[in-house]
Amino acid sequence: MNIQDFDPAALSPGEKAKLNFHVLRLPSGLHLDYTALVARGARAGKTIVVIAGVHGDEYEGPLTILKVFEQLDPDQMQGTFIGIPVVNPPAFDAGTRPSPIDGQNLARIFPGRPDGTISERIAHALLEYLFPHADLLLDHHSGGVQFDIPLTCGYYLLEGEIGRVSKEAARAFGAEVLWGSPLNKGRTISEAVRHKQVPSIYTETTGAGGVLPADLEAYIRGTLNVMKYLGILPGAPEGSEPEIVLESSDPNRDFDSAINCTASGLLETMVRLKARVNRGDLIARIYDLSGNVLEEIHADQPGVVLGLRRFARVFSGELIALVE
Ligand SMILES: [Zn+2]
Repeated sequence: MNIQDFDPAALSPGEKAKLNFHVLRLPSGLHLDYTALVARGARAGKTIVVIAGVHGDEYEGPLTILKVFEQLDPDQMQGTFIGIPVVNPPAFDAGTRPSPIDGQNLARIFPGRPDGTISERIAHALLEYLFPHADLLLDHHSGGVQFDIPLTCGYYLLEGEIGRVSKEAARAFGAEVLWGSPLNKGRTISEAVRHKQVPSIYTETTGAGGVLPADLEAYIRGTLNVMKYLGILPGAPEGSEPEIVLESSDPNRDFDSAINCTASGLLETMVRLKARVNRGDLIARIYDLSGNVLEEIHADQPGVVLGLRRFARVFSGELIALVE
């Protein structure tokens, strides 16, 4: 089956299935395929599309989707779950954030192009053929191999129904940090909102190259909470109140605009995640291997530490911390 023909309504009510479908052909002739994990409730209702693996070095989301699908009972569901554990297979195979084929960051090139690079074609296929099935899109990320991020659920600050549903769904997830931002461009979820009017949220958590049991548990519980919020699963969301609630006014204030280093060397971080810092507070030092401090990195504004570099060999220009 081609992704153009993907239709969860092909399942009978109360059916669960793993559907393989073809997305595109690589220059080598190899096929790039997805397996969609679909559970169609016995009763009609809303549809949630849950994706992960936009970045190939983030593993909490893929495992969450496998585990949530495993435990869903369609007889108890009113609506449909569609999960795709890894939407960027080339990056997953390489274990890297960008695609090893074209070097592109899939989360910056939406809406993509049908005749573009491999990453642009993946973006286009997701946007045109998968996201329109969704009443809500949940996009799981994490700190990847190099970063550490607190359990966060993010959404866009928008007027109207899309904004209301996105914010309520993000709150229902039950993360430590609830982060609303103005609509930006090129992101998976920004273009789902802009082009398909699909309320969309994303998550972040530790990363650091693995899957911590507590993170997996929080992602599974959060995904089920969002399904409860949508009425797909019975019961009320069981998320706790967020510790930190942020509403940014600058659409460019995200991990792309975090504090970068200018030196290359060995990193020591001096703060913990979620710490409140003032502008100018010392966040990290970079040393050379004879012990000289090459650079001191300070908070660029007052706020909360929402991301920290963990991989301690750093190169000039790399991201060290996000204070928001
Ligand atoms: Zn990511």
